[in-house]
Amino acid sequence: MIIVICIFLQASIKLKTSAPEFRSYFGLNYLALRSIKNLVFLGEPKDVDMKNLDILIVGGGPIGIACGLQAKKKGLNYLIIEKGPIVNSLFNYPINMQFFSSSERLEIDDIPFISKEAKPKRNEALEYYRRIVTSNKLNIHLFEEVLEVKKEDDQFTVQSTKEKYSAKNVIIATGFYDLPNKINVPGEDLPKVSHYYKDPHFYASQKLAIVGASNSAIDAALECWRKGAEVTLIIRGPEVGQRVKYWVRPDIINRIEEGSIAVFYNSEVKEIREQEMTINTPDGDIVIANDFVLALTGYMPNFEFLEMLGIQLSQDNKKLPTYDSATMETNISGLYLAGVICGGMETHKWFIENSRIHAKLIVDHILSKIKTKIN
Ligand SMILES: Cc1cc2nc3c(=O)[nH]c(=O)nc-3n(C[C@H](O)[C@H](O)[C@H](O)COP(=O)(O)OP(=O)(O)OC[C@H]3O[C@@H](n4cnc5c(N)ncnc54)[C@H](O)[C@@H]3O)c2cc1C
Repeated sequence: MIIVICIFLQASIKLKTSAPEFRSYFGLNYLALRSIKNLVFLGEPKDVDMKNLDILIVGGGPIGIACGLQAKKKGLNYLIIEKGPIVNSLFNYPINMQFFSSSERLEIDDIPFISKEAKPKRNEALEYYRRIVTSNKLNIHLFEEVLEVKKEDDQFTVQSTKEKYSAKNVIIATGFYDLPNKINVPGEDLPKVSHYYKDPHFYASQKLAIVGASNSAIDAALECWRKGAEVTLIIRGPEVGQRVKYWVRPDIINRIEEGSIAVFYNSEVKEIREQEMTINTPDGDIVIANDFVLALTGYMPNFEFLEMLGIQLSQDNKKLPTYDSATMETNISGLYLAGVICGGMETHKWFIENSRIHAKLIVDHILSKIKTKIN
């Protein structure tokens, strides 16, 4: 019996199992058969029909990967396209970064995430998500950017930097880490200014100004000060952000109160120059000597990309994309949103912990549509 099933499944690979004739002939069993085939031939080369994808997933972050894994489990013909390496955003996080979530809350599909401490470090997260991709042999194209998604009739055409694909459904899981919120002052484009923080060693014995009051800015301020940088924080509001991790906030407040880290509250950068910068403070403009600036004022989704796809955004400054929270389907049938992209400008609303569920919601909805069609 097993041999017969294997011969049948092997033949189905050659026949390109996603062919419509095959699908309609075997009806509902088609999905079950593909699931079994995925299990039986786990070690086989990928069997992705690029011109007839059930799902194309844009973005290989934790949530895009969760969608891919869910699609694979259900026997769907899927592909993830990622413009960088696996979990590109996490790869670009500060090298010593520690998540605020404990590791089990970052797990995908209940696959255990073991970390040294309760809250994992960036390297452990890279290891975890990388292993999910490689051990499950997920279909993923790396270093390939999706440029355009168009819908004609019931089919999406997706143009990347390398190929053209055709898919019945598209999931946008592109996150928000690519576009920094600019501070829009003269000198922001100088090489000494960065919107991304990586490694404190770089700033040792340097005069470093950090703009921002949230987790990224405060983590960077403490780390760089501990590695010998002379740190000045420039904070637009009256205090260190209330959302700063509860175990980090007292640390920064104590460092400020003891005078180890300088701070200007209710202040904004006015101009950045090669060796100094002007800050507008409640006491008027102040010029401070400065070697490097980290403008860690948050990031935003690529709204142009969403609009190009035809996704409606709210007209207020939150720019919330339109989607059904039960299915994650947008105002365009077959086009879904997953992960932090759902939050518009409210980038703190969604994170891995609370958006990993999107994968199941979306795949369940797609399966229900396929079943309705077959019936
Ligand atoms: C410093 C920091 C600490 C954090 N700590 C936590 C935490 O403790 N717990 C938690 O739950 N969350 C945390 N987050 C948030 C969490 O990292 C994000 O919520 C998570 O990365 C979201 O996953 P995502 O898959 O939606 O988006 P992302 O991880 O941003 O993935 C999107 C992917 O899409 C790719 N992409 C974008 N455009 C294209 C395109 N056109 N074509 C192809 N690929 C594209 C990007 O390269 C990227 O890899 C933290 C974030 C930061 C910045």
